[in-house]
Amino acid sequence: MRTPVIAANWKMYKTPTEAESFLTAFLPLVREQTKSEIVLCPPAIDLTFVLAGVQAGSVRVGAQNMHFAEEGAYTGEISAAMLTALGVTHVILGHSERRQYFAETDETVHRKLITALKHRLTPIVCIGERLEEREGGETEEVLTRQIGVAIGGIDPAQLAPMIVAYEPVWAIGTGKTATPEMAADAHRLIRGEVARLAGKSVAERLRILYGGSVKPENAATLLGQPEIDGALVGGASLDPQSFAKIVGAA
Ligand code: PEP
Repeated sequence: MRTPVIAANWKMYKTPTEAESFLTAFLPLVREQTKSEIVLCPPAIDLTFVLAGVQAGSVRVGAQNMHFAEEGAYTGEISAAMLTALGVTHVILGHSERRQYFAETDETVHRKLITALKHRLTPIVCIGERLEEREGGETEEVLTRQIGVAIGGIDPAQLAPMIVAYEPVWAIGTGKTATPEMAADAHRLIRGEVARLAGKSVAERLRILYGGSVKPENAATLLGQPEIDGALVGGASLDPQSFAKIVGAA
């Protein structure tokens, strides 16, 4: 059995004060739940506040990005060691918005994955096809390439903590959701590719999350698919009640 992961990607929303208000409302709503791992990924500036807010509870805190270098003259960037020093446990890598607006490539995701694993951060590696790629029948090729480049050459024994998020780009922030069948097909493909490249036992333990307009209304159906091991939630994670309902649906 794979423990579901429900992760919030707050993107560039919430000041530290707003993050604290979120926690005041959210934490009591999920205090009793033990079935899923909950991960909050706030903007970097909020990490310290969110870590202090969740303290000894079971909610984990992740970053939305990091640099692959150990340290250096990279203005505006954050290293893996800086994240772990704070108490951050997870990091989102290769989100489609970073690929689209900040020149993230399959190769930089691969380098970041190596660094995250070295620092014992749990990476949430995002992959997903764009609309024109789906319409052009290239989904399989895109997903195979993205996961293949990300994990290629990495010792399978090191890949155990990795989480993958399948996020069809056309479903992110658009209100359009992949059907549960579409998502399950993509997840099967990804798991099969990981099995081919890293072995069956890594693939069987791998948590593959779905992301793309997950809301309280569709969460139960999506999360009810045996292939879907959780969700990466953007918009609907900004509201404590709606994110708690998604956690409840898992
Ligand atoms: C995301 O940012 O990873 C995401 C899935 O966003 P949304 O839920 O808003 O589509």
